[in-house]
Amino acid sequence: MATMTKKYIDCSEFPSTLNCTLRISGTEEEVLRAAREHAISTHGHKDSPELRQQLQGAIHSET
Ligand SMILES: [Zn+2]
Repeated sequence: MATMTKKYIDCSEFPSTLNCTLRISGTEEEVLRAAREHAISTHGHKDSPELRQQLQGAIHSET
């Protein structure tokens, strides 16, 4: 396991009408999974390769 760095996604960085301030942190895999579920259930996104790509691009490394 080479990549155990903590990652996070800040939902407030996404353009949204909900003014969502959710912050999800964990391993990259956990963050991607939780963020995808959150985007679908809370923001009404459709699960798609584009969504995954968008989330992947929004991941930051915890400092
Ligand atoms: Zn959100």
